[in-house]
Amino acid sequence: MLPFARVTIIGLGLIGSSIARAVRQHMPTVRLTAHDADPAVRARVEELGIVDDVTDTPGVAVTDADFVILCVPVGAMDMVATSIAPELPVDAIISDVGSSKAGVLATLTAALPGATVIPAHPVAGTEHSGPDAGFASLFHGRWCIVTPPPGAAEAAVARVSAFWEALGAKVDLMEPRHHDLVLAVTSHLPHLIAYTIVGTASDMEEVTRSEVIKYSAGGFRDFTRIAASDPTMWRDVFLANKEAVLEMLQRFTEDLTALQRAIRWGDGDTLFDLFTRTRAIRRSIIEQGQDDARPDFGRAHP
Ligand code: NAP
Repeated sequence: MLPFARVTIIGLGLIGSSIARAVRQHMPTVRLTAHDADPAVRARVEELGIVDDVTDTPGVAVTDADFVILCVPVGAMDMVATSIAPELPVDAIISDVGSSKAGVLATLTAALPGATVIPAHPVAGTEHSGPDAGFASLFHGRWCIVTPPPGAAEAAVARVSAFWEALGAKVDLMEPRHHDLVLAVTSHLPHLIAYTIVGTASDMEEVTRSEVIKYSAGGFRDFTRIAASDPTMWRDVFLANKEAVLEMLQRFTEDLTALQRAIRWGDGDTLFDLFTRTRAIRRSIIEQGQDDARPDFGRAHP
């Protein structure tokens, strides 16, 4: 039995359009309705034919839904939730895919009093945005973290979990604040570091931009992939997950200072021990199927 029959997606970028494509593939009888604020995105989604109906306003998109997923940047959740509130059916379950969870849960609960809110975060993505960037297999074998509020109805949590499992994801349940701390380490801090390194390199006056690009295979180019991620999405993530990111940044700064000292004092053992530990982490990620085991991330080398 399908967890939902009438699904509405608000926001048809990378994640929203991937959900639409995956629902089409794995649950073809589900009726899909969608809305995006951008008329050009709406027109493109009609052209792609990945949903049954595209509406001009968010309210009309939800009138008949049994499941509504908000796939907009975290900073836009409030505006969207407020605009659908008068039209949301009483028995509909509302969820989102935002990359930070405690703030989004508070926003949705306040904007939709009495609604069943079960937030989630598919830990899957690419550095691309927009409806053409989406693909049906994005969630295959990836984790989706469901972060229900305390006291949430078990049946509603089970239906949201079953939805993600049907799209090929593996589901974990987590308390929203714990999610924000975990993701601050595994996703938000790495993005902040990548944005910093790429910014620093492009600002250096003694090294030209053409040299930075020419010799990027020395490690830099792997940071540029992350630093090419959507500016709106990431601005909102850092503002929404401020506390956890600042806490992790403090720890990171201390660890960086310790490495700086080891280099200054020629303490090779400290460097070697750390690099040995980090290599083992990479092995575990590959063993758990969360990355490509081929050298250089499977890039083709003619
Ligand atoms: P995206 O490709 O930029 O798509 C977002 C879409 O939402 C855009 O078409 C945008 O339109 C639209 N939108 C913005 N404000 C809106 C509003 N008020 N009403 C309706 N539509 C609105 O972004 P994405 O990568 O799919 O990210 C969407 C959400 O998924 C974010 O909350 C993000 O944190 C989360 N997420 C992203 C990733 C990832 O790797 N990208 C992974 C997991 C979760 P405009 O073009 O007009 O702004």
